[in-house]
Amino acid sequence: MRQHRQRIVAGNWKMHGSRSFVSEYVPALLGKLDTLDADTRVVLIPPSIYIGEVRAQVQNRATQQPRITWGAQNVSAEAEGAFTGEIAAEMARDQGCDYCIVGHSERRHLFAETDEVVAAKVEQIVAHGLTAIVCVGETLSQRQAGQAEQVVARQVEACLAKVPGNSWDKIVLAYEPVWAIGTGKTASAGDAQAIHASIRKVLENMQAPAQTIPLLYGGSVKPDNAEELFAQPDIDGGLVGGASLDAESFSAICRAC
Ligand code: PGA
Repeated sequence: MRQHRQRIVAGNWKMHGSRSFVSEYVPALLGKLDTLDADTRVVLIPPSIYIGEVRAQVQNRATQQPRITWGAQNVSAEAEGAFTGEIAAEMARDQGCDYCIVGHSERRHLFAETDEVVAAKVEQIVAHGLTAIVCVGETLSQRQAGQAEQVVARQVEACLAKVPGNSWDKIVLAYEPVWAIGTGKTASAGDAQAIHASIRKVLENMQAPAQTIPLLYGGSVKPDNAEELFAQPDIDGGLVGGASLDAESFSAICRAC
């Protein structure tokens, strides 16, 4: 039987959007989510510079709070200081963010973020009362070499190494196979479920509350594959990139959760 866990669909806009996009997209999306299951949380994750505008748009429809919320794509591993261009976890919290993505493969590969940096960011995020959406996932060559489970296990252990024992309720994991991100290739529901189940075992070995931590799948989630993915016993929702930029597609994915 499926455990009762928080169900979450998060939309990672990446470096897309504009003020006019926010003012059209957010009201359109919210209008389509009126019938959303009360147990599902929807997290809008725009570029940081638009967080304030997303917040204002969501707060205009106070009746949907707190099911619809917002978050940041990245924060600094440092608390504050001379770090031009960075934003601190505390600043994200100050803008009302509940969630922050950390360890996304684009940050790892394009901005050289290591597991150690991810662990330091997770520490900052949870220390400031945000929930970290910690991304892990293998590359295509690692999958082809049969190493997917080990790679993911190593990332989970390293990235969560600094989570205080009383902060596990501030952790969400997102399994995002690198070869499935933005490629239109999705892991089969069975393959994704197998990795999610293996992540729960890793969490158990770490003495974490493995059965209550939400595990999301990410990588080319679309309206036509969301239902099967989200029906898997250990998949509690999704981290959606490209399809989150279209209110019709994203609302359909949210309803599939
Ligand atoms: P995608 O991106 O849905 O466009 O594959 C997912 C992600 O990068 O979080």
